[in-house]
Amino acid sequence: MIRVKTPEEIEQMKPAALLVGKTLAEVSKHIKPGVTTKTLDTIAMEFIYAHSAEPTFKGYNGFPASLCISINEVVVHGIPGKREIKDGDIISIDCGCTLDNWVGDSAYTFAVKGVKQEDAQLLKVTKESLYKAIDVCHIGNRLGDIGFAVQSYCESFGYGIVRELCGHGLGHVMHEDPNVMNYGRKGSGSKLREGMTIAIEPMVTLGNKEVVFHNDGWTCTTVDSSTAAHFEHDVAITKNGPMVLSSFDEIENAIRTNPNLEII
Ligand code: MG
Ligand code: MG
Repeated sequence: MIRVKTPEEIEQMKPAALLVGKTLAEVSKHIKPGVTTKTLDTIAMEFIYAHSAEPTFKGYNGFPASLCISINEVVVHGIPGKREIKDGDIISIDCGCTLDNWVGDSAYTFAVKGVKQEDAQLLKVTKESLYKAIDVCHIGNRLGDIGFAVQSYCESFGYGIVRELCGHGLGHVMHEDPNVMNYGRKGSGSKLREGMTIAIEPMVTLGNKEVVFHNDGWTCTTVDSSTAAHFEHDVAITKNGPMVLSSFDEIENAIRTNPNLEII
């Protein structure tokens, strides 16, 4: 069942969504070659608790960390650990914050200095596809229009759209109805209604779209070991059009001040 929100509830959701961006900005200040993903996760956890919020991912279906950190061929759900960041890596960091009983959920893929040109373009196109999807989030359009926006744009570059994972409604919990697929036909699926709040999150590969899940129950990598990118925003459907609740502004300001990262 899709649970629509009142305009007041949508306003109440913003602080949680914005705190995710602030957390990712804080984490991004510490990305450099040699740092472990576990260190980045600890920074996020402490930052979230210091802002009177909870890391939504920690304990979610048994997930052991506050962030999903997914490097290069890892698409999503990478578990922070001993892996060290290297020059040229692309790093998807996904974060959830629960604040005042509302959940924010947003992801950004970072490019470490020395990133390959083909990976930089993958990041740029994946982020652009997210905004193309947001642009169709008007009352009366359909979920298939969102999927079509992502798929048609990314496939025009020859990229793969991961089918096994998707975006979702969110509110008091991280995963509500509906599923928000990254592929689809124009004009298909449920109608977008005023007050729907959804996380849109294209997961896009440089190569084949096939993925495999590891024995840890979480880590999802491309079968062909090609690199993958992931960006996610929380969006409300309002009578004034799409309202993006999360923000990349602070993340991108932080990237510009970190000499180890490249702004894409
Ligand atoms: Mg997420
Ligand atoms: Mg999500």
